[in-house]
Amino acid sequence: MKIAILSRDAKLYSTRRLVQAARDAGHAVQVLDPLRCYMNITSAKPAIHYKGRELTGFDAVIPRIGASITFYGTAVLRQFEMMGVFPVNESVAISRARDKLRSLQLLSREGVGLPVTGFAHSPDDINDLLREVQGAPLVVKLLEGTQGMGVVLAETRKAAESVIQAFMGLRQNILVQEFVQEAGGSDLRCFVVGGKVVAAMQRRAREGEFRSNLHRGGSAEKTRLTPQERATAVKAARVIGLNVCGVDILRSRHGPVVIEVNASPGLEGIETASGVDVAGRIIAFIEQHARPHRTRTRGKG
Ligand code: ADP
Ligand code: MG
Repeated sequence: MKIAILSRDAKLYSTRRLVQAARDAGHAVQVLDPLRCYMNITSAKPAIHYKGRELTGFDAVIPRIGASITFYGTAVLRQFEMMGVFPVNESVAISRARDKLRSLQLLSREGVGLPVTGFAHSPDDINDLLREVQGAPLVVKLLEGTQGMGVVLAETRKAAESVIQAFMGLRQNILVQEFVQEAGGSDLRCFVVGGKVVAAMQRRAREGEFRSNLHRGGSAEKTRLTPQERATAVKAARVIGLNVCGVDILRSRHGPVVIEVNASPGLEGIETASGVDVAGRIIAFIEQHARPHRTRTRGKG
């Protein structure tokens, strides 16, 4: 097969591992910078050009689209979908996952466990909103933050009010969430490939920090999930529509709650902590599922 990896940087661990796993399985693979892909979107025969050449003959595309280029990256992926190239994750599902509010609304509709979460637009409604999510301590999150940036713990009602006011003053979209204190600064990263959890790790925040992101100095170790945690991760992936994703779960008093579904989860942390060849599992998924014009949405919707 001929596989494209949409990634801004061929030297990144995740990109290198996917290239290696594809080659080991005997496939041709090319890393393409999505920001260097360009196209005539009105052409009767959809095509993509890259550094002066037309891209042809690809069977599958692995999108590794960073949060900062979601808009252009998903447009490029949509073009691949229109060309009938099998996407490991569809553009529509990636867009869904990037918006935390939209994701939580979809998950809630399907009965997936979530921390109590609210949102409001007007500063006039802050007090009511705080009552609605049962008061401080609270977590305030930017809707499109990543790597723990834009996630703030407000320990008192006064702190919550000021943080929310400040974000609103900056015209940032936020959500306000129950602080799951009993998780003790730990969360579970469940790596889902093709409807199965193939690897999992427990991430622990460093001393004095509640965010367990590895980018925030958290540490990771292999863990065993309960059947309920496993089922929750699989269901969350299905609801968002991602074949490959990292589902982040907190162990709360009322069972597993999903905080985030990540459409381009990093491979380094999870492969190191779990010892699983996650890149190989992604390539195996492509081998089983890639057929021309097999995308569900073909970029629509
Ligand atoms: P990001 O997209 O920036 O990673 P997350 O929503 O995943 O944002 O939050 C970052 C980290 O903060 C999580 O991994 C978790 O450790 C912690 N965290 C997030 N939400 C809560 C919450 N409601 N209660 C307790 N800890 C939380
Ligand atoms: Mg996260």
